[in-house]
Amino acid sequence: MKLDAKNIRYLTAEDWRVLTAVEQGSRNHEVVPTQLIGNISGIAHRTGVHKNIASLAKMNLVSRVKNARYDGYRLTYGGLDYLALHSHLKADAVYSVGNQIGVGKEADIFVVAAPPTGGADASASAIGNAHKLVLKIHRLGRISFRSVKTNRDYLRKKSSGSWMYMSRLAAHKEFSFLQALYQADFPVPRPVGWNRHTVVMDLIDAMPLRQISEVPDPAGLYSQLIELILRFAAVGLIHGDFNEFNILIEEHEVPASEDVEESILLHPVVIDFPQAISIDHANAEFYFNRDVQCIKRFFQRRFGFTSDEEGPFFEDAAKEAGLPGGRRLDVEVEASGFSRKMAKELAAYMKEVGAVGDSGAAVFDPAASVVGEDETEVYAEEDDLDAIELEGGDVEEQPEVVEGAESGETG
Ligand code: ADP
Ligand code: MG
Repeated sequence: MKLDAKNIRYLTAEDWRVLTAVEQGSRNHEVVPTQLIGNISGIAHRTGVHKNIASLAKMNLVSRVKNARYDGYRLTYGGLDYLALHSHLKADAVYSVGNQIGVGKEADIFVVAAPPTGGADASASAIGNAHKLVLKIHRLGRISFRSVKTNRDYLRKKSSGSWMYMSRLAAHKEFSFLQALYQADFPVPRPVGWNRHTVVMDLIDAMPLRQISEVPDPAGLYSQLIELILRFAAVGLIHGDFNEFNILIEEHEVPASEDVEESILLHPVVIDFPQAISIDHANAEFYFNRDVQCIKRFFQRRFGFTSDEEGPFFEDAAKEAGLPGGRRLDVEVEASGFSRKMAKELAAYMKEVGAVGDSGAAVFDPAASVVGEDETEVYAEEDDLDAIELEGGDVEEQPEVVEGAESGETG
C-alpha cells in the first residue's frame, strides 16, 4: 500500500483533532458515529465537524461506513499512517518521506529522511543529502489467507480494529527487540523510535543476501551467519525468519597495508523481528532448526556450498543461554514493556490469520502447511474490508485498547 504523504502538511490543527477523535472512537466502536467524533474532538458545531470529516474522507484518511443502525466513519490504513507519521515528525524523528523500498507480506518499507542537523546541512531538504532512515509500517491485517472463504469469515467475525491493535503490537515488539539487540552490539539497524504501527530505524545501505549471486568465500559467510544464530540463542533469542530476505550484506572495505592487498569484508546485518521468540518458547527447537536449515539450504542452492560440520544443534545452543553472568535479551525485552501477554496475543493473531514470513512458511504454527501453489493467496485490501463492512450487520463493541507512553514511542 502506498503512503501518500503529500497532504500531511495541509491538514489543519482541527483536522488532526478530528482524525485523532476517529482513532480514539474506534477503540470501542467499529464504526464511529459522527456525533461521537464531534464530542471527542470538542468540535461540537455540526457543520464544523462535517467539514473536517469531509476533507479527511477526501484524502482517504477516514471512510464512511453505512451500518444497519447508524452511519459513521472508520479510520483507514492511510489515516493511521498519517497519525503515526505526524507523531514522528513532531518528535523530530523524521523530516520527510521518500520512496517505498519494500512491500512485504506483513509490512511496507519507506526511506525517510532524518531532520537536518544544522550547519551546512540545514538547507538540505532533499532526501539525497540527509541521513536516511527506514519507516517500517506494519500491516498485519493485510495478510495472505489460505482461502477467500476463511478470509471473509474471519474478517466478518473479527473487528477491523484488531488490525490496528495487532499491527501496533508488531511494531512495539520489533522496536523492543531492535533496541535490546542494538544495545547488546548485535548487527541490527539502530532503532530510532516507534509510534502506533510503525518503527523508524537506520537505513542499511546494503543488498539482501537474496540478491547476491556470488561471494568470494561462501564458507566464511556461512560461518558468520551460523555464528549469529548461536549468538542470538546465547542471549535467549531465536529470530524465527532468518533467511536471505532478512539478512542484508554490507561490504566493508579493508584498506591495503604493506603486505596485504585491499579487500572487502562482508558484514551481515539482520532485520525483521516481529516473529522472534524466546529460547524458552515451547516450539523453540522447531524455529531454531528452521533458521539453521534456511541458511544451509540457501548456501547449497546459491553457492553450491555444504558445510562439513553437522548442526549446530538446539540442545547445545540452549545450554549457552542462561549461563551465569550471561545476558538474557528475551527477559530484557519483557522488562522493557513488551510483556509476555502481548507476545502471546500477537502470536495467536499471526497464527490465526496465517501470517507467513519471507520464507513463505507459516510463522507460528509448526503443524500448518506451507501455502502451496494450489491454494489461493489473497490480500485483504482496504476495498475488500470496506465491502465486507458494508455487508456486515450489527456493530460489535470492541474491547478497550490499553494505551500508554511506552519507552521509545515517539509523539
Ligand atoms: P517484511 O515483514 O515485509 O519482510 P522487512 O523488515 O523484512 O519486512 O523489510 C522488507 C524489506 O525491506 C527487506 O527485505 C529489505 O530489503 C528492506 N528493508 C527493511 N528494513 C531495512 C533497513 N533498515 N535498511 C535497509 N533495507 C531495509
Ligand atoms: Mg522480511
